[in-house]
Amino acid sequence: MLEAKRQAKLVAARRRYEQVMEQHPKLWEIEQQLVALYRQKVMREPGFVSQRWEQQVRKLEAQRQAYLRQVGIPEDFAEPQWDCDLCQDTGLYEGKMCTCEQQRILESRFRGAHLPSRLQEQTFSRFSLDWYSPVKKTPLGNTEREQAVAVLHACQAFVAAVMEDPRSATGLFLTGQSGLGKTFLCSAICHSLAESNIVPLYIVFSDLISDMRASFQQDSGDADLLAIARQAPVLILDDLGAEHVTEYAVSRLFDIINYRRNERLPMVISSNLSLADVERIYDTRIASRILEACQPVTLYGTDIRAQQRKLGLG
Ligand SMILES: [Zn+2]
Repeated sequence: MLEAKRQAKLVAARRRYEQVMEQHPKLWEIEQQLVALYRQKVMREPGFVSQRWEQQVRKLEAQRQAYLRQVGIPEDFAEPQWDCDLCQDTGLYEGKMCTCEQQRILESRFRGAHLPSRLQEQTFSRFSLDWYSPVKKTPLGNTEREQAVAVLHACQAFVAAVMEDPRSATGLFLTGQSGLGKTFLCSAICHSLAESNIVPLYIVFSDLISDMRASFQQDSGDADLLAIARQAPVLILDDLGAEHVTEYAVSRLFDIINYRRNERLPMVISSNLSLADVERIYDTRIASRILEACQPVTLYGTDIRAQQRKLGLG
């Protein structure tokens, strides 16, 4: 199945190449000259001088690049359009199951276990400190921007620690009012980990609960999904506190957090709630397990989406 899709992409890439060559004789001519040069090198034909050869190749490649730009064809037009550049859609990377395949397996189990497409762009390098005031003070005494820098560094340090040794990585309890970039940072953590071939289970807490509850009510029960949430190498639980708090949700939350703390499996929990709120709304035991497993970090500021709307960006 995977292989058939790959083959189709390779064929499509080949066809694209042929079409472009047919429509652009000038490009075809450059290609032919390049092919001839490469043949010369391989065959070491008489008169081959490597320095001259390199000059000619560079010149032709520059011509090709300029031509493609002029007619508006992307330089990689002949490359297959892989869903995953890491494994080129083989599902294997460096002899192990690729992140994309692990992610597919997770998504086949949890409806909610994927980063919505609008979150795909959210990486550490795109996290903007401009969203946080350089003058307004937080209750901690620093400015909102200084605090955002500290939180960003804590997130990056978490990723580095997981890559070094997941069992000794302290988790994060990321708090702050809504619209301050918590989901952005969760998403950036996921992307960073995925680049190192670690697939976290990223899920909004209310989705986790509704997926589990749906399977709980069927004959199969929710044991499978519970096991995945307990044992995922990294769990990113986004937006705790936005769901309807039920006894079921509280008991599953405790189970997952308690299990992961005992097994030293790293997690990031984001929430609009403070730890005191968690204690009040959920359970003292949940708040204390979170505190044992996670370093609390808080963002302060003004709703980013509201700021963007004001500037006409949102
Ligand atoms: Zn892949």
